[in-house]
Amino acid sequence: MTWDEFKGDWFPAHCAAFTGIRAWLAKISRGDGAPTEAQIVKGWYNVLREVDLEAANAATARMHAGDIEEPKGFDRHPAAIRRACGVQRQQSRYEPRFDADGNQMFACRDCLDSGFVLCWTEKSMRAMRDGTFGQPYTVYSTYIVCHCPAGNQHDGRREFPRYDAKRHLPILMGTWDDGDRARLAAFVGNMRPANYDPALESATENGGTF
Ligand SMILES: [Zn+2]
Repeated sequence: MTWDEFKGDWFPAHCAAFTGIRAWLAKISRGDGAPTEAQIVKGWYNVLREVDLEAANAATARMHAGDIEEPKGFDRHPAAIRRACGVQRQQSRYEPRFDADGNQMFACRDCLDSGFVLCWTEKSMRAMRDGTFGQPYTVYSTYIVCHCPAGNQHDGRREFPRYDAKRHLPILMGTWDDGDRARLAAFVGNMRPANYDPALESATENGGTF
């Protein structure tokens, strides 16, 4: 779906079905270092952009009716909707596969076959290293093209570097909690200076930051 379809149709419809989302968004976007509502909503869109509008609306209706299990925590809603629709069914040559219980299986655990991994930007890593993380303009995420075959379809988009576990730290989608912060602190603390690549830095800052 397009951003306009997401913003004007699916997202309001989903919020009307699950009426706690707006208050939850307002709450978790409060305070220093918190993501803005716009960042969170954009993150939702990135999870759902390859899902058809009609399919997403149908999945919301099924979740609302209880036919799809509502995940614990609103931050998991987009992934559940996407799963319910079959990831990238519209555009990917990778057909979703299912195990005997009907659970979708993924070839790549890093990107769940989406081809993108949501990671901290170089700027956020540097801020954490310098002790300024959480101050204004230091908390940024970006999509990195995955190392796997699903990522190959996005390769050639120069604004996205390829995912490398040694230099990129994935963000556990939508949590933004002390856990993610602590993981970033540990990751940056363990990084060798050689892992800081100026080319990567400019790539992420010109690229997928919200
Ligand atoms: Zn992957």
